[in-house]
Amino acid sequence: MTDLLLHTCCGPCSTVAVPAWRERGVEPVGWFENPNIQPVAELERRRESMRRFSRAAGLELIVGRGEEAPEWTAWRETLATSAPQARCAACLGLRLQAAGGAARELGFTRFSTTLTVSPYQRHDLIIAAGEAAADTHGVDFVYLDARDRFRESYAESRRLELYRQPYCGCAAGKWEAWHERRARRRTE
Ligand code: SF4
Repeated sequence: MTDLLLHTCCGPCSTVAVPAWRERGVEPVGWFENPNIQPVAELERRRESMRRFSRAAGLELIVGRGEEAPEWTAWRETLATSAPQARCAACLGLRLQAAGGAARELGFTRFSTTLTVSPYQRHDLIIAAGEAAADTHGVDFVYLDARDRFRESYAESRRLELYRQPYCGCAAGKWEAWHERRARRRTE
């Protein structure tokens, strides 16, 4: 049954999110649109990784045109100064609003996201953003917690030779990931 538009953040998370939906009897349609990813070369790498996974998995995939909405320009201008929680809440809000809008325009009754695979994401923010987008667009948001399959996504990514990104998406997140890795190495 194909009635779910699945916002896909990347190929690696999709390797376990898509099977999780299929195991529940749902054949999702993937939708990749992530203007938060910086720089553009990184966005293209992740887009290509997503395409590679969809071909391997037989997943119907809609790839956004990557055109910049004005709200993304405004969000980007706050990156250097906003606190992580506010920055991420805005980023998740923009992406899930776009996903909810796409679901409505494409005739789906509900949507979800592969962001819920990652234990590094704030799931409370994802749920809040998803539910707000559902209210805005008159569709349902379905939260599926797939964090227990996060490790499995490493093995699947290796098996399918997918590019696996070392940071969330934006430039600020890239620096934070770098500092966290460095701090971990110092305590090991
Ligand atoms: S760290 Fe990730 S979720 Fe947070 S603002 Fe950056 S890209 Fe968005």
